[in-house]
Amino acid sequence: MIEITSKLPHVGTTIFTTINQLARAHNAINLSQGFPNFDPDPELLELVSEAFKKGHNQYAPMQGALSLREAISEKIERLYGNYYHPESEITVTAGATQAIFTTIATFIRPKDEVIVIEPAFDCYYPAISLFGGKSIPLPLEGNDFKMNWSAFKSALSPKTKMVIFNTPHNPTGTIWSENDMLQLQDILRGTNIILLSDEVYEHIVFDGEPHESAAKYPDLVARSVICSSFGKTFHATGWKVGYCVGPKYLMEEFQKVHQFNVFSVNHAMQIALAEYLKDPQHYVNLGGFYQEKRDVFLNAIRSSRFKMIPSEGTYFQLLDYSDITDEKDTVFAERLIKEHKLASIPVSVFCKGDYDKKFLRFCFAKTDDVLEKASEILNSI
Ligand code: GLN
Repeated sequence: MIEITSKLPHVGTTIFTTINQLARAHNAINLSQGFPNFDPDPELLELVSEAFKKGHNQYAPMQGALSLREAISEKIERLYGNYYHPESEITVTAGATQAIFTTIATFIRPKDEVIVIEPAFDCYYPAISLFGGKSIPLPLEGNDFKMNWSAFKSALSPKTKMVIFNTPHNPTGTIWSENDMLQLQDILRGTNIILLSDEVYEHIVFDGEPHESAAKYPDLVARSVICSSFGKTFHATGWKVGYCVGPKYLMEEFQKVHQFNVFSVNHAMQIALAEYLKDPQHYVNLGGFYQEKRDVFLNAIRSSRFKMIPSEGTYFQLLDYSDITDEKDTVFAERLIKEHKLASIPVSVFCKGDYDKKFLRFCFAKTDDVLEKASEILNSI
């Protein structure tokens, strides 16, 4: 073996892969990794096979198929009121994780500070480290995971280059309000801080609340790269097609890196998605669809010993097990798989700092039979 110095010495295999393997080994019901156990709309699948047959089998344009960029631009303008130019302000990516990685690669230099709001999706920290940045974790507070804006203000320094936030929030299922966005906009005004806004669950918001995209706030638009995901919206996480948008001066830099990283994304999928996006009915009802699943799940475990605040968005529900055991969440999650045959994700894996809250994350993007079986297990604990 030759000698190497790991660039990520403290990073192991992702929690999602680890838990999936454990769940398989113990034949457990798997509510851990976030993915639907059902297929995309047959109409979308038909559009994909047509696109293959129509010959969209060679490289797509580096920025993404123009028809898809146009459809993305229309969707954002209609929903959030900001126009992104399809030619210069939109890039189709190999999933949102690539959009996030490339954004960090493009803008973060050694010693730059990046504020990461915690719990934080697991891909943020390693990407920041790879490019020499310094992560500044900022915990959401209380059992309802609210942002403390004065703590946010104090976390900023002259070295802060980027803030990463995520609404609807994985893993907590909270959403940011208009007031949160206005606070963020005010605090960042006049700074040179880039906002990386992870909005992959933008269409999965419940109880009639709006999704507060950074695209709604002009001062945020001017400093933001906003990432989204067709995997989440169209039940196709395995396709790995997402996108990001941002003002031209940011997107130009992003594309300099993107072109030498993935170059371009699966062409036929893009053509099909462009066609499918023409009908807003294909995504505007997604919140209602998942809200029903959340409610099936929560009603079924109402009399269990787990405590819960209903998820406001995403397809995740946190359950508080503090009335059941004092065990650390990683220990309890493992025991739940091995002894009770139910897989979830311990929330501490999304945190760098000390974290000892008693929450597990459950994905309810599952058919009712699976949710019922999971509920029976939770009720028996
Ligand atoms: N976003 C998914 C989740 O939170 C996982 C995606 C992945 O495994 N990279 O479960």
